[in-house]
Amino acid sequence: MFEVMYDYLIVGAGIYGSVFAYEAAKRGKTCLVIDKRNHIGGNMYTERVHGINVHKYGPHIFHTNDEKIWNYINKFTSFNQFVYNPVANYEDRLYNLPFNMHTFYQLWGIKDPNLVLDKINEQKGNAEVISNLEEQAISMVGSDIYEVLIKGYTEKQWGKKCNELPKSIIKRLPVRLTFNNNYFNDKFQGMPANGYTDIFINLLKGIEVRLATDYFGNRDYFNSLARKIVYTGPIDKFFDYKYGQLEYRSLEFETNVLNMNNYQGIYVMNYTSSKIPYTRVIEHKHFDNNGDEGITIVTKEHPKTGTINTEPYYPVNDEKNNKIFLQYRKESEMLHNVIMGGRLGEYKYYDMHQVIASALNMVSKELL
Ligand code: FAD
Repeated sequence: MFEVMYDYLIVGAGIYGSVFAYEAAKRGKTCLVIDKRNHIGGNMYTERVHGINVHKYGPHIFHTNDEKIWNYINKFTSFNQFVYNPVANYEDRLYNLPFNMHTFYQLWGIKDPNLVLDKINEQKGNAEVISNLEEQAISMVGSDIYEVLIKGYTEKQWGKKCNELPKSIIKRLPVRLTFNNNYFNDKFQGMPANGYTDIFINLLKGIEVRLATDYFGNRDYFNSLARKIVYTGPIDKFFDYKYGQLEYRSLEFETNVLNMNNYQGIYVMNYTSSKIPYTRVIEHKHFDNNGDEGITIVTKEHPKTGTINTEPYYPVNDEKNNKIFLQYRKESEMLHNVIMGGRLGEYKYYDMHQVIASALNMVSKELL
């Protein structure tokens, strides 16, 4: 038998695990944080290369309407003022996102918001029964926007044809009849001035962290070290897939260092045509204007089907998977020494602010 040495073993040094560890340590609890990767930060991790903060697991933009969460995250790093205005590239023509008057002018040359509305209404059709994503999207924004800006991108992202995807994936497709390229409607938005990793260095200060350490590499040993486990990995793996495998979408990142100052003039360009295999090209230096002279770093993001051997990035919250998940959740709720949290533990398509809220909510129940 091993000696119980910690109050909490925290599996995963992502934002859920790190917020929980910080709050527990603040209340005098002892924690051991382990992560199978060789760095802290989970998917928010940024690595400084040639002075550029490289978003290693895809572009991350912090945004929230919740002032409490905004003030909380600002305790751990300083944020630059940042407004996310990505651009879409369809067959070498550029369009502003989200769909707004700039986009409509680029698509149709129309300047009058009322004529834009007429154009969209003309194309919406009047299907009485909507049975898939394609019909849902056309009924919301019409066929031109669907063909140019939605179809190819969505099919690459999900690895399925839009007319085979459930309509529930698209609940809202906001159409803005103003010249406003701000992607998010939230009150607070920002980019950490020194990259996201800074947040984790500050959250985990004074807490024991072991990297390149897989919980499943020696599960019994790790279980024996602590009174309770906070697990932020895939919930289906925790239960050895006994109710079946949950579906995830995965990604492959193709990154190149280029000897030039500026490759595409913007942090994110979405490629919306199905002829291009990747969905986005990220030029990291434009997030915070850092970096050495004469160098830029560019990443192409390729969506992939998730398998047992790929990194699970996006939960696929359709009916079938949610049903499987509920079985796992029910079982986890019966384990009084285990807390499941985060995007993979809760199998939810959470953004960063939602994961922080979920961790703080758990802290308020668990640590009073
Ligand atoms: P994670 O960050 O996944 O952390 C879990 C950690 O657990 C990982 O480090 C993993 O290595 C570790 N782990 C798993 N299994 C084990 C094991 N067996 N042993 C040890 N360690 C283990 N959110 C936004 O708000 N804005 C955005 O713009 C945005 N963009 C995104 C873009 C992409 C491409 C992706 C994938 C996500 C994006 N998100 C964004 C979501 C955001 O990344 C997540 O909400 C957040 O990082 C999830 O935190 P987490 O702690 O739940 O999980």
